[in-house]
Amino acid sequence: MRLLIMGPPGAGKGTQAVLIQKHFDIPHVSTGDLFREAVKNNSPLGVSVRKYIEHGELVPDDITIQVVIDRLKHDDCKNGFLFDGFPRTIPQAVALDSILSNLNITLDAVINVVVSNQKLMERIAGRRVCKVCNAGYHVVTNKPKVEGVCDKCGGELYQRKDDTAETVQNRLKVYNDQTKPLLDYYDKRNIIKNVNGLGEIQDTFKEVLASLGVKQ
Ligand SMILES: [Zn+2]
Repeated sequence: MRLLIMGPPGAGKGTQAVLIQKHFDIPHVSTGDLFREAVKNNSPLGVSVRKYIEHGELVPDDITIQVVIDRLKHDDCKNGFLFDGFPRTIPQAVALDSILSNLNITLDAVINVVVSNQKLMERIAGRRVCKVCNAGYHVVTNKPKVEGVCDKCGGELYQRKDDTAETVQNRLKVYNDQTKPLLDYYDKRNIIKNVNGLGEIQDTFKEVLASLGVKQ
């Protein structure tokens, strides 16, 4: 299976990626992880990647594409792969097509984990964290016994700056603006598999398998 997985922040994409990787025994290739690894190893590539990451900028397409080409050469990609975080732009998608076509292979499917913006807002904006021990809570799905107080240590619960409605809305807008052209690109080929990311983890995974034609 040669797959891509896409989905907005908070949709549970990472969890599905792990399940897919295990089920098909294919590597989960996350460009974010590859960048971090290159930086850690201080490879020549890592040195240039570090500059962008430290400034909070996106790593340019040409470097990203080179990282992907190198990763695809590893033996574990022979039977397929699950890309995560790549492609992020149309030039990257076009480059991926040409890389794969040089290898005489094509993508089987793009798994798109769909959750409504409103649901994502509820999920993320309801998160609370303990100031003392960092334990995580949710005002609807994982309430503490006493409102605003940590069950484990009695510490005060607060909302991280990243999780406020305004920040979440902004992150979703960036994601949607960035992803729309890619979804259009793959939609023309009819390889997008939309799965509902709202339910239980296992239910979403069943949808993923069904969308890929796996008999269960
Ligand atoms: Zn606590």
